[in-house]
Amino acid sequence: MKIIMLGAPGAGKGTQAKKIAEKYHIPHISTGDIFRANIKNGTELGKKAKAFMDQGLLVPDELVVDLVADRLAQVDCADGCVLDGFPRTIPQAEALTKALAGMGQKVDFAINVEVPDENIITRMAGRRACVGCGATYHLKYAPTKTGDICDTCSGELILREDDKPETVKKRLEIYHEQTQPLIDYYTKEGIIKEVDGTQDIDVIFVEIEKILTQ
Ligand code: ADP
Ligand code: AMP
Repeated sequence: MKIIMLGAPGAGKGTQAKKIAEKYHIPHISTGDIFRANIKNGTELGKKAKAFMDQGLLVPDELVVDLVADRLAQVDCADGCVLDGFPRTIPQAEALTKALAGMGQKVDFAINVEVPDENIITRMAGRRACVGCGATYHLKYAPTKTGDICDTCSGELILREDDKPETVKKRLEIYHEQTQPLIDYYTKEGIIKEVDGTQDIDVIFVEIEKILTQ
């Protein structure tokens, strides 16, 4: 089962992808997490990606496509995976189709988590990310159990640089220009599934479970 999560930055793709991965025992592959891990480890890829990410821009396709194709070829993806934050452009979607076809596979479900722009800015302002393990929380909607440290690793929680309102506005513009066209792309492929991302996290997940068992 190959699943991709579509939606604006902050729509809740990562939140739902994590739940899908846990329930169906498949890897959760977030390109944003991969880039952030590279930045933390000071790699060349991390240095290149950071320059784009800090400005709210997309990292160029050539830096992301091969990375995902290599990850999909790993043995733990044989039974499926949930891709979060990839593809984000039409060339990335085409490259994904090609890479999967090369392995005799295809995308089975493209789940579009729909949240209006006006909800996104406030949602992002409340998102907190763990500097240790990258886990994501929300001050109001998904708080920690243990106060102001990460439930999983006790790491420090921060507001991501690219979640500040000015950068979120830029990311939303880029989303509408470059990523939203993927909804048409996957509608034509006949695999798009829409969910209303303004509902409670658990309500959305119940809808996604229904989609995946159709
Ligand atoms: P994305 O991966 O699409 O960028 P996240 O999954 O990180 O988005 O969610 C963005 C923020 O909104 C996080 O702080 C998360 O805890 C919170 N969130 C996710 N889903 C919901 C929801 N349905 N209602 C309210 N807040 C949510
Ligand atoms: P995310 O964690 O998915 O919100 O991603 C954070 C940032 O990483 C984005 O704003 C982009 O700069 C970069 N990024 C993540 N995935 C991709 C991708 N598939 N293509 C281009 N840039 C990406």
